[in-house]
Amino acid sequence: MQKWKENVRKVVPYVPGEQPKVEGRLIKLNTNENPYPPSPLAVKASADMDITKYRLYPDPAVSKLVKALAKEYGVGDNSVFVGVGSDDVLAMSFLTFFNSDKPILFPDVTYSFYEVWADLYHIPYECPKLDEEYRIVTDDYCVPNGGIIFPNPNAPTGVVMELEEVRKILDANRDVVVIVDEAYIDFGGESAIKLIDQYDNLLVVRTYSKSRSMAGLRIGYAIGNTELIKALNDVKYSYNSYTMNMAAIELGTAVLEDKEYFEETTNKIIATRERSKKRLSELGFTFPDSRTNFIFAKPSKISAQELFEKLKERSIYVRHFDGERVKDSLRISIGTDEDMERFFEAVDEIQRG
Ligand SMILES: *Cc1c(COP(=O)(O)O)cnc(C)c1O
Repeated sequence: MQKWKENVRKVVPYVPGEQPKVEGRLIKLNTNENPYPPSPLAVKASADMDITKYRLYPDPAVSKLVKALAKEYGVGDNSVFVGVGSDDVLAMSFLTFFNSDKPILFPDVTYSFYEVWADLYHIPYECPKLDEEYRIVTDDYCVPNGGIIFPNPNAPTGVVMELEEVRKILDANRDVVVIVDEAYIDFGGESAIKLIDQYDNLLVVRTYSKSRSMAGLRIGYAIGNTELIKALNDVKYSYNSYTMNMAAIELGTAVLEDKEYFEETTNKIIATRERSKKRLSELGFTFPDSRTNFIFAKPSKISAQELFEKLKERSIYVRHFDGERVKDSLRISIGTDEDMERFFEAVDEIQRG
């Protein structure tokens, strides 16, 4: 009898999108990565790095990156927390802020990691249903709860919520922490960062993984009232003082200077997304209007599962989720125009049979 097993923490882990090992003519539209390389300033910062410094620990306060982000968003240095991708920032936030006996709230169709963290930390939760058009029903969040989290725009739907609606949720929830996960906000929608002075219980979480083309370096951050940030740092220093490595700090700071490249690549992705909406409609797909770098689209001529598999046979990767309300659609990341062209040609071919 392996009695020790009784005391092992049991979790059903989050399953990330596949990172296929095959190189070559692979079209990867399954994890919402940016199809463009990071800013040339990242390449330069990488070449300029003094590798001998790697013998030292990095700055535990990550002051350089924190200051640069504070400047970028016009907030104080004490309003910024950084972590190893926004997944790390979010996991730390669950641990720090969601300690009530009441359930936390997040949508039934959303980033599936929320449920995993809630289970991991034994946080009770409830999942109000999105409406027929995949919109968050704000009234559902105006009930007693232990905290709130939602992405804006939402994932995997791509649907954006107006800032006025976010404000409604904040007004009804002054006694709990409300986290807005803005992983995709650079592709559309209005940021809640401007509300942090009015709501001391608002935490906005962002990432370098999507709009800044740096998923591989793992950089995320949170912006909020100084007391929220202090609470996060207290937990971080109780867990692992050195979360951010030197390369992430240097490259993450450097790219913030390159606003032109950031805008150029973001606008290219938005333009490709808008063209892709037309093509998807022509191919018989239906989808909620996306303001992100992906489209959550339902094919009408073939099942989502079958299309997913046939695309994969052609080395084209998209994401398919199980679950009653999502299994009929595919989440298709926006690649380059060329990637999308090959995707659409393959879909057309498959649908013609
Ligand atoms: C991609 C994503 C994240 C995680 O991003 P990382 O910074 O790469 O950890 C968090 N939230 C949502 C909604 C995402 O889609």
